[in-house]
Amino acid sequence: MRTYEDTYQHKGLRKKLMDLLRDKGITDENVLQAMGNIPRHYFLDSAFDKIAYEDRAFPINEGQTISQPYTVAYQTQLLQVKPNDKILEIGTGSIYQATVLAEMGAKVFTIERQKKLFDKTKTFIFKNQYPNLKFFYGDGFEGLPTYAPFDKVIITAAAPMIPPKLIGQLKPGGRMIIPLDEGEHQRMLRITKNEDGSIQEESFQNFSFVPMLSGRNG
Ligand code: SAH
Repeated sequence: MRTYEDTYQHKGLRKKLMDLLRDKGITDENVLQAMGNIPRHYFLDSAFDKIAYEDRAFPINEGQTISQPYTVAYQTQLLQVKPNDKILEIGTGSIYQATVLAEMGAKVFTIERQKKLFDKTKTFIFKNQYPNLKFFYGDGFEGLPTYAPFDKVIITAAAPMIPPKLIGQLKPGGRMIIPLDEGEHQRMLRITKNEDGSIQEESFQNFSFVPMLSGRNG
């Protein structure tokens, strides 16, 4: 049985990581506060306990990764999360990003295509703490038509194109943060849906994600 303990040492390392994210240009204090509250080491295998607060991506199961803290902070900051925002996340993975959004008071709907990773969400340690976080097994390219429309969409895998169905499930005035694949890397885009349904794109830094794949696996 995995045991969980958030020691003074973990808390100290976490605080240092938040200072590092500030130094790297993260300014949204709500993002830093949420990430500062969440024990990232709980989302990793216990073998990573000592290094969980390094600003690095780490492997989780099924060849996937938990995103680098800087990447999580950057995407969350671009999303401009407000309490009660209805947010769709594509790529549940370790559940870390989804937990950050839930900690900020959003209503989070997160989809994972890998059955084994989805099954792990059933024993998620903070399940009772975040009734505003809901898990779905499915293909993110399809979104969640039953729960649409969303205020925000966040994609946490390298998208080959802007998924049209996800634009369709965004409210007018809603926003999507998407790492769009350009071959070597992904360009972070923020897409805003106008009242008339047309979209506007803003382009930010490059990042590196695992690929967004179509269809479910498992
Ligand atoms: N947000 C995650 C990042 C995980 S990596 C975290 O905080 O840990 C990206 C995840 O996206 C992987 O788990 C991968 O299986 C998943 N994924 C890739 N394509 C997908 C798709 N079409 N639909 C849903 N999930 C997808």
